[in-house]
Amino acid sequence: MIARSVIVSPHLDDAFLSLGGALLSGVLDACVIVNVFSTSDNTRFGTGDLEEVTARRRSEDGRVFADLSPQRIYLDWPDWPLRFTLPRPRDEDVANVVSAACRVANAAFVLLPASIGQHPDHDFTRQLDRCLSDSGWMVGYYADLPYEQPQCPPGFVASGLRHREDDADEKARRLLLYSSQIAAAYVAADYRRSQRQGFVETVFVPVGSDS
Ligand SMILES: [Zn+2]
Repeated sequence: MIARSVIVSPHLDDAFLSLGGALLSGVLDACVIVNVFSTSDNTRFGTGDLEEVTARRRSEDGRVFADLSPQRIYLDWPDWPLRFTLPRPRDEDVANVVSAACRVANAAFVLLPASIGQHPDHDFTRQLDRCLSDSGWMVGYYADLPYEQPQCPPGFVASGLRHREDDADEKARRLLLYSSQIAAAYVAADYRRSQRQGFVETVFVPVGSDS
């Protein structure tokens, strides 16, 4: 069981895609999800109207989390590659918002993406670790799917968050609600991968904090 946490999600689907089983099963006590790059003009069908796509993503996320407890915060920074032509965030500004969320929610832990796939928005979000550690927060990472699990960072230990098959079924059902971002074929492939691995989602926590 991971202590009460704030999850920082680069995009709207990342937290649930990576930790949805743990959230549904209650293995992970997440009080807040901070979505950093929640403005987008990109769908899996191509580019669309910025306001429409952003609103659609927000609506999808609302349906996925409808009856789940984590509060969701949207920082509405434009995602990659939009953010190279529109205003970009400074890491200390984003880290300050995350710090404030941790304080208000009385969280013990901040979970950042391990940035396994090296996407620029995931890299940015992972690199908040230095600011957040400097501010005194305990930082861990989650294996951000759909990529294979990475090597455990030095000084950290992998912790498998196991959930039930029922929760995995429900996770797959809800992932389909992110229909502008995730294809049904991907959801089916993700389910099979998860089944092979015994329905475990992975976080990396500092050595000594997992006992
Ligand atoms: Zn993402």
